[in-house]
Amino acid sequence: MGMIYLDHFSTTPCDPAVVKAMLPWFGEDFGNPHSLHGPGRKAAQAVERARESVARLIGAEAREIVFTSGATEANNLAIKGAARHLARLGDPRRRIITVATEHKCVLESVRALASEGFEAVVLGVDADGRVDPEALRKALEVPTLLVSIMAANNETGVLQDIPQLAGIVKAAGALMHVDLAQMAGKMPVSLKDVDLASVSAHKMYGPKGIGALYVRRRPRVRLEPLFSGGGQERGFRSGTLPTPLVVGFGAAAELAAVSMAEEAVRQAVLRDDLWAQLQGGLPGIVLNGRTVPRLAGALNVCLPEGLRALDVLEACPDVAASTGSACTAAEIAPSYVLTAMGLSAQKASQCLRLSVGRSTSKADIDRAAGLLIAAARTCQTN
Ligand SMILES: *Cc1c(COP(=O)(O)O)cnc(C)c1O
Repeated sequence: MGMIYLDHFSTTPCDPAVVKAMLPWFGEDFGNPHSLHGPGRKAAQAVERARESVARLIGAEAREIVFTSGATEANNLAIKGAARHLARLGDPRRRIITVATEHKCVLESVRALASEGFEAVVLGVDADGRVDPEALRKALEVPTLLVSIMAANNETGVLQDIPQLAGIVKAAGALMHVDLAQMAGKMPVSLKDVDLASVSAHKMYGPKGIGALYVRRRPRVRLEPLFSGGGQERGFRSGTLPTPLVVGFGAAAELAAVSMAEEAVRQAVLRDDLWAQLQGGLPGIVLNGRTVPRLAGALNVCLPEGLRALDVLEACPDVAASTGSACTAAEIAPSYVLTAMGLSAQKASQCLRLSVGRSTSKADIDRAAGLLIAAARTCQTN
């Protein structure tokens, strides 16, 4: 009886088939994919096959995929790259719109641009974590360069209606960037009216340290690169590609494509089972984002009054889950995603993020529910 991992939105284990696919590229097949000799060409072919697999997963063309070190870099490249490129061309627009519940790397990229003279507009969300399309339309009344909205939230699993929001953005003539880090590999994605989209391998059973940015070709989206260098990845991203990680990403994308429909159904059943058991054992527990579509594995709950999520997890070392709060220095900051949904700092500290994944079994759910309920009861009496 080992540890039960219920933190798949934080990262996922590499699928054994992914590890197997990567191994030769760490060893005998070490060639530089940008070299023109035999070993280089062999690596380049493997990279291009992986590029096709990643593209196919999100419905893009291989030529539209730029490999990066992960979704953090892809988000930075999309947001800063697009804004700086257009500003350099003399575009008078300055407005960049995003949402309060985005990943830190999006919020911080937009904030960095604000210090370069761009105007940052951060839209709020409703109690279920959704963006109001009318608020977006209103914000777009001022000519806007770019809008960045995530498809699925990494703390709550709440889905935004990207086709609808992207349509509004397109009608207003702004570029649309979507952070797909949580959605890709879990659900089919739509790139309709989307110009830029970020993905990450380690959120979909691939290796850490590799991701990609989708850059639309028709009409062509241009970006100022973040790095100066040899001009790899069509000039968007200099640096030697890590062949093993790229190959692993491609293998993970192929596995996700074949298993995602079945997994979504299986994980939703397990997630609902866990929720039912927690409700049974902990009266007063509340589900966050309950009335809106969510990712199949997502379960973000607010524990009953008087319970701190951190204390419960500490009393429950065999369950690996997350509180959503970030520990900064000595303080524990409440999750800004949950406070943006209207929860008080106090309430946010009661919230637990459980995320079911491909490695979760029914036995895991039963055991985790028992352990969490017992831990909560211990904390309640203390
Ligand atoms: C994990 C995550 C990121 C960051 O991805 P990395 O590949 O770890 O840099 C960005 N956005 C979302 C929504 C994520 O879940």
